[in-house]
Amino acid sequence: MSEKRFNDYKLSEDIIRALEGLGYAQPTDVQNQVIPAALEKKDLTVKSKTGSGKTAAFGIPLCEMVEWEENKPQALILTPTRELALQVNEDITNIGRFKRIKATPLYGKESFSKQTAQLKQKTHVIVGTPGRVMDHIERGTLELERIRYLVIDEADEMLSMGFIEQVEKIVQKLPKSRVTLLFSATLPKDIEKLCHKIMKNPVNIEIMAAP
Ligand code: ADP
Ligand code: MG
Repeated sequence: MSEKRFNDYKLSEDIIRALEGLGYAQPTDVQNQVIPAALEKKDLTVKSKTGSGKTAAFGIPLCEMVEWEENKPQALILTPTRELALQVNEDITNIGRFKRIKATPLYGKESFSKQTAQLKQKTHVIVGTPGRVMDHIERGTLELERIRYLVIDEADEMLSMGFIEQVEKIVQKLPKSRVTLLFSATLPKDIEKLCHKIMKNPVNIEIMAAP
């Protein structure tokens, strides 16, 4: 844990209150590094071990920066699995509870028509697996023109599951003017190459495991 408090960052009351409700007394080390940098809209690569609190590290600044009034999706979070998409969707919903942030999960093996109906409603954040997100893009059911924040979670898992090409194709369809955050427990060469292609002067954050 860092010595910092969530109150030390420029976070609104709605977000602070949600964190208190979740029982998050203090930011973890990765949250302490990522939250201020993400709020400054820097591209980031973040290497930090499993269980270190990476979801809230991106979830908190995203929920802070998303504009409630906008009807089209503003943030896209890509995860390697359905389970993770649902977990991250729930975490975003919890962090954004008092700001009434709407997150929508998109994953395979759930009907397109159900997801398409959800996408017709106001949604701020999309949390999806690459395959299903690409399907929605190709069908024209997911609007991307307002996406300003992209998160790639568990990038090393994406790589080992063979999703990197698909991730790259999705990124090519996003607006160029955006913030890109990539999270991983390890940063293999192919992930570094991807970062080079899709980010602008990223800040590299690496949290060392405690001895
Ligand atoms: P990672 O993505 O790095 O593997 P998670 O984001 O899944 O880690 O977080 C691991 C656990 O820590 C979750 O149960 C989460 O609710 C909890 N957690 C995250 N941030 C905090 C915090 N600041 N204080 C207490 N618990 C936290
Ligand atoms: Mg994680």
